[in-house]
Amino acid sequence: MQDTVPELAKDLLTHVVALREMGVLALEKAPDEPVATATGASLAARATSVRESLAEVQQDLGPCDRCRLARGRQNIVFGSGNPDARVLFVGEGPGKDEDESGEPFVGRAGQLLTDIIEKGMRIPRADVYICNVVKCRPPGNRNPEEDEVATCAPFLERQVASVAPEVVIALGKFAAHTLLKSTVPITRLRGQWHEYRGIPVMPTFHPAHLLRNPALKREVWTDIQQVMRHLGLPVGT
Ligand code: SF4
Repeated sequence: MQDTVPELAKDLLTHVVALREMGVLALEKAPDEPVATATGASLAARATSVRESLAEVQQDLGPCDRCRLARGRQNIVFGSGNPDARVLFVGEGPGKDEDESGEPFVGRAGQLLTDIIEKGMRIPRADVYICNVVKCRPPGNRNPEEDEVATCAPFLERQVASVAPEVVIALGKFAAHTLLKSTVPITRLRGQWHEYRGIPVMPTFHPAHLLRNPALKREVWTDIQQVMRHLGLPVGT
């Protein structure tokens, strides 16, 4: 991936904002390297040096019992994929299959998401990063409640800051509402570019919703095509 200096500067700013929110108020300048002469490579090195790793976020999450969803889960489903992904997908929360396996999007909805990524976007699923708003399965697959989302969301925010993707795809209303701090229906949010901490966000329907409403696949495909154009990926018909 070839980053330009403005992209790296934006990347760095995103991380600094995230660090400030975590209480890091000062960063040391790298010795003997004036900023005015810094190359793109050295900016990238610096951006990496201030970027919290996903492993650090996961370690901080630990065997979390910060909200009541801890009681019924089998596994925390932290997220998986490329820590330097260009595209980060955010879903709602683990279902039964995900809770059992500890991996996000492994059931029928997961297979559909894999098809969207690999057959639609024509990139390996391992090249993207996938996670959810809440990391533990809500009992009976109910919707996560407001306080559960609020408790877990800081870890999502740190994951996004760590991966620093070029695009976030918000799958369904919970992901879109959490990231965009909006209550606008997903039917109106989808298909339009939004922004989360300087990162373009494309909301679209959740794959589980597509399984119940296959006719909506056409809308999702147009949303995904917008993402592909943004990333410079070849878009078929
Ligand atoms: S949903 Fe999130 S905040 Fe709640 S217990 Fe699980 S990891 Fe912790």
